[in-house]
Amino acid sequence: MIKALCKVCNQSSPSDQFKLHHTYRQMVCPGCFTGKNQKKKEAEERKKVEEIRKPRGWDQEDEYLERLSKMKQEETKSQFTKIPGTDYVKCKCTGCKYEFKYDPFRKKPGSCPYCDTDIPRMRTFSML
Ligand SMILES: [Zn+2]
Ligand SMILES: [Zn+2]
Repeated sequence: MIKALCKVCNQSSPSDQFKLHHTYRQMVCPGCFTGKNQKKKEAEERKKVEEIRKPRGWDQEDEYLERLSKMKQEETKSQFTKIPGTDYVKCKCTGCKYEFKYDPFRKKPGSCPYCDTDIPRMRTFSML
């Protein structure tokens, strides 16, 4: 059996299995022809990139992002609802679920009148 060196992957394969590849414009080994070698290479490179990106602090960053998304969730959970015909919104306290009238322009009251939980900053002025 005659072996030939594939110029794409630098590995030798039986020469009678070489095929002309239209992208490489040359004879390539079966692995390169089917794209198997390419996929393997990509997977290896991806793994390398992940290893570089994953040094110490990776878990911390992950945790941070998780906390951030949780904070965002809480914010939307605070539930400001516009009171039609007024400049006020109805605010539902995240702590005790008490509902009260809130003035988003004067930012009053500053905390829940019932349990004194801070009112999250309202970013939804567009709905007024
Ligand atoms: Zn090859
Ligand atoms: Zn409350």
